[in-house]
Amino acid sequence: MRNRRSKDVSSEDYDESVAMNRTSAAPEPGRPIMTGLASLPVFFNVRGRRVVIAGGSEAALWKAELVQAAGASVVVFAAAPCDGLAELERRGASVALVRRRFEPGDLDGAVLALADCDIAEEAEQFHAAARARGVPANVIDKPAASDFQFGAIVDRSPLVIAISTDGASPILGQALRGRIEAMLPAAIRLWAGAAKSWRAPLKALELAPKLRRRFWELFNERALTASAVPPGPDEFKSLLAEATAEGPRAAKGSIALVGAGPGDPELLTLKALRLLQAADVVLYDDLVAPEILDMGRREATKIPVGKRGYRPSCKQDDIIDLMIKLAAEGKRVVRLKGGDPMIFGRASEELAALHAAGIATSVTPGVTAALGAAASLQLSLTERVRARRLQFITAHAHDGRLPEDIDWRALADPCASSVIYMGARTLNSLVERLAAHGADPSTPALLVERATCPDERVIRGTLASLPAKAAALSPSGPCLILIGAVFAGGVEAEQIREAADIAIA
Ligand code: SAH
Repeated sequence: MRNRRSKDVSSEDYDESVAMNRTSAAPEPGRPIMTGLASLPVFFNVRGRRVVIAGGSEAALWKAELVQAAGASVVVFAAAPCDGLAELERRGASVALVRRRFEPGDLDGAVLALADCDIAEEAEQFHAAARARGVPANVIDKPAASDFQFGAIVDRSPLVIAISTDGASPILGQALRGRIEAMLPAAIRLWAGAAKSWRAPLKALELAPKLRRRFWELFNERALTASAVPPGPDEFKSLLAEATAEGPRAAKGSIALVGAGPGDPELLTLKALRLLQAADVVLYDDLVAPEILDMGRREATKIPVGKRGYRPSCKQDDIIDLMIKLAAEGKRVVRLKGGDPMIFGRASEELAALHAAGIATSVTPGVTAALGAAASLQLSLTERVRARRLQFITAHAHDGRLPEDIDWRALADPCASSVIYMGARTLNSLVERLAAHGADPSTPALLVERATCPDERVIRGTLASLPAKAAALSPSGPCLILIGAVFAGGVEAEQIREAADIAIA
């Protein structure tokens, strides 16, 4: 046995379990020895080797496809194979079909033995035949007759992730696989492929172990960030230059404007989640749910920079100065904004200042409040006849009053759906101005407070009735006003509810 302690960090070249779990294989005094591993996970190279499958079912077909994908030379024994197996053989996969029952001698020279047996006795016989030849066996759904199990897999070859619950709950394994799939950046397969092809040239350079490790750490940073694009032809050279640069590495700071959605944390995009998990600092708005902040890296610094209407709050210039300062320090900053960053979020001012300061920026969209509200209400914002146009409007000018320069005729258009942001406080004057511009007072109008949050409230009415109803319920959370013919569904629902209330009374 080689003593791993005497080896340098390049042990990760050979054994990923060492790279991932341990730096030393020898149990130090006092460290408990690992026990209780349900089964031994190994990644088995079957390229060009004989794998025998007994049985012609659909389940056997899936195993044949999987094993040939790993490059094995597969032989399937089945008296009456399913059509798929014949198709697999015909399409030139390395699968040979032998149309007769399996016999124990077929296992000679095989490295793995797989079978689909209905009867327990048959499964035992197959297992015994494999054992007699020293060939590990798996009988589908018969753990007692199997030496090994297949896990649920995530295939981003050369990166392969396998999950086993030791038969406890294959469905749990599948669900976990889904989560892992969603977590992986889209380009991870290409990055893993690049790592494979760069390993030899990197080794040939005979760098000091410390520099080689730095190379792979930088590699990880690029491969695992949300914005990960496929590695280009110059990536190897640029990573090498960065890894071997003299002195401490000057980290490059960046600012990502990220939409956090309207409230429900499940509405966060996968990209937003990955950026949060890679951030050093998160600057967040008032409207961002605490659950979303909890999804970020635990070690990240989280700074509230809320701009609260009508309350003391951070000045926009101070926020911009803070962003520039953090990026200059080399921090990866996520600027988390409620809804979508490009809708009533002053993103253009922030981006212009950051670009002028030469800071790398990116923007990740989020679900804007209007779309969250439409989803909650299950009301389409557009419709072929009743709503050909959709407009998002802010009813909050610099001075907190209703802006004067709104296109009132457009807002009174009976064939448009209008969603009004920051409009709860100016609702009365808005409705008055609309009436003066010829809007029909019976036009359906809704107020949605805290759309998509557990305490969401909807106030249903018309242009004529909404202001009084809203005043009576005095909402305190963020509110949208929705005006237009398509919101009539809500009005009917309210009428039904009022009718029901009367009946109960
Ligand atoms: N960028 C955000 C909007 C920021 S302006 C977006 O795309 O949604 C802030 C205003 O958005 C609030 O005053 C309110 O009008 C609206 N808003 C944000 N979240 C909301 C929610 N969950 N429910 C209702 N309105 C919301």
